[in-house]
Amino acid sequence: MDERQEVESSVEAPALSCPRCKGMLPMGLGEVTCVLCDARVRVDHPATRRAWAEEKVACPGCSKVLVAGVDDRPALLRCGSCEVEFHLTPKQAKVEVACPSCDRRLRMNRRPGRREITCPACDTGFAVNF
Ligand SMILES: [Zn+2]
Ligand SMILES: [Zn+2]
Ligand SMILES: [Zn+2]
Repeated sequence: MDERQEVESSVEAPALSCPRCKGMLPMGLGEVTCVLCDARVRVDHPATRRAWAEEKVACPGCSKVLVAGVDDRPALLRCGSCEVEFHLTPKQAKVEVACPSCDRRLRMNRRPGRREITCPACDTGFAVNF
């Protein structure tokens, strides 16, 4: 059926920390809840909002480049040329951590909280907190 296509935004939301516990906040702007201490925090970042509104994206239907014009992510956009509607989804930010045993750099999605990791190179299990 006519599933809406998704395009990943190329503008990353800033990494912000919780004013109460100093832990990493979930990505995004507006009202967010700290997953570490449950604090409700209002975060905003005008420069990111501006970059989001001015972001240029290629329409997944006709490849024409359009300006998003929406200062929030995800955003529902409609191409003026081919009338395709698509979602502009938040950029998935990555972090790098080093394996404590072999020092290999591992890339993973940036998401707050504790994560159990098994190093693919040396099979050592370890945990990280963001
Ligand atoms: Zn917190
Ligand atoms: Zn189009
Ligand atoms: Zn390792």
